[in-house]
Amino acid sequence: MESSAALGFNGGSIPVKGESEAIKTMSFCRFCEQSLVRTFVDLGMSPLCESFLSADQLNQMEPFYPLHVYVCENCLLVQLKEYVSPENIFTEYAYFSSYSDSWLQHAKAYTDLIAGRFNIGPQSQVVELASNDGYLLQYFVKKGIPVLGVEPAANVAQAAMEKGIPTVVRFFGEKAAQDLAAERGKADLLLGNNVLAHVPDLNDFVAGMRILLKPSGVITMEFPHLMRLMDENQFDTIYHEHFSYFSFTTVEKVFAAHGLTLFDVEELPTHGGSLRIYARHSENTEEPVNRRVIDLRAREEAAGFMRLETYLCFAKKVEETKRNLLNFLIKAKREGKSIAGYGAPGKGNTLLNYCGIRTDFIDYTVDRNPYKHGKYTPGTHIPIYDPNKINEAKPDYILILPWNLKTEIMKQLEYVREWGAQFVVPIPEVKVYC
Ligand SMILES: [Zn+2]
Repeated sequence: MESSAALGFNGGSIPVKGESEAIKTMSFCRFCEQSLVRTFVDLGMSPLCESFLSADQLNQMEPFYPLHVYVCENCLLVQLKEYVSPENIFTEYAYFSSYSDSWLQHAKAYTDLIAGRFNIGPQSQVVELASNDGYLLQYFVKKGIPVLGVEPAANVAQAAMEKGIPTVVRFFGEKAAQDLAAERGKADLLLGNNVLAHVPDLNDFVAGMRILLKPSGVITMEFPHLMRLMDENQFDTIYHEHFSYFSFTTVEKVFAAHGLTLFDVEELPTHGGSLRIYARHSENTEEPVNRRVIDLRAREEAAGFMRLETYLCFAKKVEETKRNLLNFLIKAKREGKSIAGYGAPGKGNTLLNYCGIRTDFIDYTVDRNPYKHGKYTPGTHIPIYDPNKINEAKPDYILILPWNLKTEIMKQLEYVREWGAQFVVPIPEVKVYC
């Protein structure tokens, strides 16, 4: 334990096996710029998780990139190196937030809560970073509150503008913040959901938020919580677009370095367990730091999040999960059972590629999004059909890939019990529901 305490913030002197090779392809922490040499987990090579293939692409070359996650020895930020440029990923993006009913409800509940708590009204300016198709800002517009969306994907931003939500097509950072502050004014409420983790230049992004925030303004951000990812073995939420994996303690450090203080935090069930952080200018003492901040910091410390070793144990757990899932699939196939997938989410593609699950195990998968029908999963080339296929083919097992929605999905598919099919959920560990 003593050695771990010493490791916390200056572990650089400990020799690392294979360090000379690591130096050749050296990368640096996107927060503190220390060189990255410690592996958090290495999921091998994988294609971009949203790059579904059409039939005529199946025989073509497919780009694979490393899915190798590091933990910084100095600041303990868990991160992927920037293997793929955000311009390649986000300029034309297939993800439209408004396709998900539960996400829309979440957005609406947020606008009610926040408008009440911080007195956000027609006199205020609300700015959302990565505002997608206006799924959230639309609820502020309905309240007569002025809004501005900032969204790098032109096709998605277009959908927002068609709904009457003013949107600037731009990647956000210091320069963008200066321009927006000059042209549109600063924000009373500056928010971003599931964007912080997707930002390659973290310091530029957070510095930009400070510039765009009024002296009395409030920032809220939501992102998946690393503590939940590790506790519940959610390694399939690692994908190339997701550059940083934050504990509360790390994110607090990043904001503090840019003159922003976290004064409240909420733990949410979304995306397998997320945090909603509340930040203000450090000089603004109107909002005192809340009890929840102190409690969560203490819980993370007790769970070992200040020590490098805690992070270095994770990979073993992931490898064991892969073995257990493959054991189950091999046994089922040897017994002559048929297995279908349910869902074709990005996280499913990390799981399928890492575990090497192709049509040798899963005949097909189904998804409610018509955009994916007739396509194939990236890397593993499993065909994707309409959910009706399950009723036609009557598989013995249904492997639920979006495990965060398992309760909802098992309810929707109640009818499969007629022929005795069973559900299988791969995360946190493989489990069969009879
Ligand atoms: Zn660092």
